[in-house]
Amino acid sequence: MSDCIFCKIAKGDIPADKIYEDDELLAFKDIRPAAPVHFLIIPKRHIDSLLTTTKEDEALLGKMLGLTSVLARQQGLAAGYKTAINTGHAGGQEVFHLHLHVLGTPAQ
Ligand code: 5GP
Ligand code: ZN
Repeated sequence: MSDCIFCKIAKGDIPADKIYEDDELLAFKDIRPAAPVHFLIIPKRHIDSLLTTTKEDEALLGKMLGLTSVLARQQGLAAGYKTAINTGHAGGQEVFHLHLHVLGTPAQ
C-alpha cells in the first residue's frame, strides 16, 4: 500500500520513534500520545484492520499480543497497561493499517 503511512514507517521511508523491530512486527511511539506511555505494534505486512484478518493471521495476531508484555515492561509498565485495537470506521479506526495500542502510566 504505497499511500499507507504505517507501511512507510515499516519501510523506513518516514521516521518514527521505534522501540522494537523483527522480521514481522514493528513497535513505535504514538505521535499523539494519549497516556505517558503510548506505543503501537504493527505487522510490517499491510493488513487493513482486524476485519480483514483471516485464519492464516492467527499466529501473527498472537505474536502481537504476546509482545505487549515484553515491551510494556521495558517501557516501565510492569504494574499493568491497557491495550486497544480500533477496528473499522465505526470502531474509531483512523489509520487503516492494523495496529495495537499499548497505553499506561509508569509506576512511581
Ligand atoms: P486509530 O484511531 O487508527 O486506532 O489510531 C491511529 C493512531 O496512530 C493515533 O493514535 C495517531 O496518533 C497515530 N498516528 C497517526 N499517524 C502517525 C504517524 O505518522 N506516526 C506515529 N508515530 N503515530 C501516528
Ligand atoms: Zn500499510
